[in-house]
Amino acid sequence: NKQVILKNFVNGFPKESDMYLKTDSISLKVEQGSNAVIIKNLYLSCDPYMRIRMTPMDDPNFTAYQPGSPIQGFGVGKVVESEYTELKKGDLVWGVTGWEEYTLINNPQTLFKIQHTDVLLSYYTGILGMPGMTAWAGFYEICAPKKGEYVYISAASGAVGQLVGQFAKLFGCYVVGSAGTKEKIELLKNKFGFDDAFNYKEEHDLNAALKRCFPEGIDIYFENVGGKMLDAVLLNMRAHGRIAACGMISQYNLEHTEGVHNMMNVVYKRIRIEGLTVFDYFPQYAKFLEVVLPFVREGKVVYVEDIAEGLENAPAALIGLFSGRNVGKQVVVVARE
Ligand code: NDP
Repeated sequence: NKQVILKNFVNGFPKESDMYLKTDSISLKVEQGSNAVIIKNLYLSCDPYMRIRMTPMDDPNFTAYQPGSPIQGFGVGKVVESEYTELKKGDLVWGVTGWEEYTLINNPQTLFKIQHTDVLLSYYTGILGMPGMTAWAGFYEICAPKKGEYVYISAASGAVGQLVGQFAKLFGCYVVGSAGTKEKIELLKNKFGFDDAFNYKEEHDLNAALKRCFPEGIDIYFENVGGKMLDAVLLNMRAHGRIAACGMISQYNLEHTEGVHNMMNVVYKRIRIEGLTVFDYFPQYAKFLEVVLPFVREGKVVYVEDIAEGLENAPAALIGLFSGRNVGKQVVVVARE
């Protein structure tokens, strides 16, 4: 069983050498009556929160990875052995698994059984999985959108951002996104149908860039980045604007997170900032699929994935999230069937 192991807890930016590949010779077994399953991992998801789990923390949402053990994350797999009545051999599932070829899952009730296979299986790491639910809950619920409103999304071409932008366009909003390369800006404008987009790495003054894109201000900010971007956005929010605080990737590798200076704007402009934790919405997965699966099938929403081949390329794919190397949802293929 080939595995990706965390070497040590990480300080600062993660490196490929913080992880290593190991072949474990212990054969996995499900005990009779144990309720456990073994899955063969097919697609693994690289997600920014995984960096947070590489450092010890006292956050009830996350437990830190154990140095010397395989990394865990969301993935798609096929059941190869089951003592759990709800799943049988051959079933496809998505949920939290190990970064390895085969994983023994002792709590298979946390897995979602995949019912619809007329779409790409890898989509269950993205548009039809955890990032999709994040975009759906974050936009429709937390952002409380109204038609015609001005929406801004940071890290807009990524797993979550590209969906928020397309949901907002379908809803009838004016949508602007930012990202870190020319290629990503092209995608935002030409593939995802954003009204406008800018490369934040080429802007000396983020406040000025936002004023240029939103002369009348921002109603909704979908926050993926934090730090200086959040500070500039606060200066450009309109009265009664909403900020969905989804993530702050610019802060995950910092020992001391940056301060935000323009918070008084929350008072002046009666802004509502609300955090989002996607796990809260997992019980609503069926409701989410009812909305998003038709979008996929009818081609109303497109989804760009960045595919890395093989477990041996998983560490590089994961750390690439923090330099913006990924173009779209970063997936690792372990096996195709
Ligand atoms: P992405 O696919 O968007 O990948 C991360 C991207 O972030 C990179 O490609 C890069 O793009 C950008 N980025 C990296 N470092 C920085 C930086 N210092 N400043 C600005 N941008 C940076 O990731 P996801 O869509 O999976 O996640 C987006 C956000 O959503 C993250 O903050 C994540 O933690 C959060 N999230 C939160 C969830 C929740 O339940 N609250 C669930 C899922 C995700 P670029 O080229 O644009 O720099």
